[in-house]
Amino acid sequence: MAELILKPGKERSLFRRHPWIFESSVARLDGRARPGDTVLIQSADGRRLARGAYSPSSQIRCRVWSFDEAETIDDAFFKRRVALAVARRQALPELAGQEGLRLIHAESDGLPGVIADQYGDTLVVQLNSAGAEKWRKALVAALVQATGCARIYERSDSEVRGLEGLEKVTGWIYGEAPGGEISILENGVRLGVDYASGHKTGFYLDQRENRQLLGSLAAGKSVLNCFCYTGGFSLQALRGGAATVLSIDSSGPALERARANLALNPDLPAERAEWREADVFQALREFKKEGRSFDVIVLDPPKFAPSAAHADRAARAYKDINLLGFRLLNPGGLLMTYSCSGGIGLELFQKIVAGAALDAGRCARIVRRLAGTPDHPVALEFPEGEYLKGLLCQVD
Ligand code: SAH
Repeated sequence: MAELILKPGKERSLFRRHPWIFESSVARLDGRARPGDTVLIQSADGRRLARGAYSPSSQIRCRVWSFDEAETIDDAFFKRRVALAVARRQALPELAGQEGLRLIHAESDGLPGVIADQYGDTLVVQLNSAGAEKWRKALVAALVQATGCARIYERSDSEVRGLEGLEKVTGWIYGEAPGGEISILENGVRLGVDYASGHKTGFYLDQRENRQLLGSLAAGKSVLNCFCYTGGFSLQALRGGAATVLSIDSSGPALERARANLALNPDLPAERAEWREADVFQALREFKKEGRSFDVIVLDPPKFAPSAAHADRAARAYKDINLLGFRLLNPGGLLMTYSCSGGIGLELFQKIVAGAALDAGRCARIVRRLAGTPDHPVALEFPEGEYLKGLLCQVD
């Protein structure tokens, strides 16, 4: 096994169990390693520290598989890690019975670069690092063993693959394509999952509880769902008895899917739903001009700040939509506002939202802090992990 020797002092992050080693921390590689090969990580003074996957084209030169420098990285290792990730979810009662579930959340489950989402008896995986790519067979076998799934679709088409020197790969890698559509039942609402061309692995599982929360407070309300994607929030609002639900997204295909999702739920009052293909920033300004207002507004935009470097511009965009949102709320109205930007922490997000309320001339309070679902755990050692944060605000 080749040895990756760190520069002096650069072992410190490993002691804090941070799983990334940047190119700038590496003194040299002793021996030969191809992309994804396991290397033994050593401090400058020769201490053996961990084993990780080597990635020569990425700035993240190595991702740690094990902080036990003696642990062998082989098929059995991935079986253990995958089984552990699945068992963690089984141990959480609130996840019981969910048909749509994230089974593996990459670094936070000790499997850097590996995402696995379950939709009924189908799994959709993303292999986003050279190490994950190298161990694809072992990962697939471990997933099949841990879940008994019928089929696995690979959606390794994210941009990060390029940074790792990997081509995009999509297609069935275990079992056969299903006869019909794939859908899940999420808290009483049926939702189709476009695993082949939808966002991520086809669906935003991390918003499950927040969609349910909206349903619980929507009765009799006029709801505006911004960035609605395939209508998850909208359908829960209808299920919760909303008087009207206006949903906006700039993507035609997402709205088509949203309409199809509504049709999958014949019990819901379709006549109360309106879908609009528009830019949210523009639409909210037009509503203001038209004098429209709403009881509940959801703002769940795409990530404006993929990293801290984009935080400034992203902060302006968050400020803008939140300000517009606050302006459109009826007295006593509720704003559910989110950020999934890795570069914007909860504190900063809260400051932005507070500034937006102030500039909108509204008195508002946070009635609840909102987070992603527990199947998207956030490793405390890994602050770079993208995680969902949100606030439920109420205005006077
Ligand atoms: N709330 C959704 C997920 C939202 S994903 C759910 O629970 O499933 C973000 C969505 O924002 C995407 O569907 C994308 O098409 C849309 N989007 C991005 N920029 C937009 C803009 N400027 N105006 C309207 N929609 C936009």
